[in-house]
Amino acid sequence: MVVYFSVRNTAHIVRQKLVPVTCEKCGCKYYYELTRIGAGETEAAYGILDFSHATAEQQAETDAWNQLANDAELVSCPNCRWINENLVRRYRISRTGGWSSLASLVSYVGAGWHRLAALSLPG
Ligand SMILES: [Zn+2]
Repeated sequence: MVVYFSVRNTAHIVRQKLVPVTCEKCGCKYYYELTRIGAGETEAAYGILDFSHATAEQQAETDAWNQLANDAELVSCPNCRWINENLVRRYRISRTGGWSSLASLVSYVGAGWHRLAALSLPG
């Protein structure tokens, strides 16, 4: 009989940064605070060489900073209430994980294929 057990470590880290924004419409410069929670998880077989807690913290740290580098919030200009296109695009990608771009590409290719098939049919 083989008995297997492991030690699982999880870590969560909150990181934040100030994001500078220049309004596309009126040129106003403003800042907003972006906060993200990074998550990490590791597992040590039989609890041997259990360095996994430090590794889980490193993964959480990396995850949080990756989110801060790529994500955005929809913060409107305090002067004219405009939301920059760049913020909208990055917000959408962060919420959908890029699936909306892939879905757009698949539908575009599918529509093109349908048109090509319709042109090549005898008739
Ligand atoms: Zn503005």
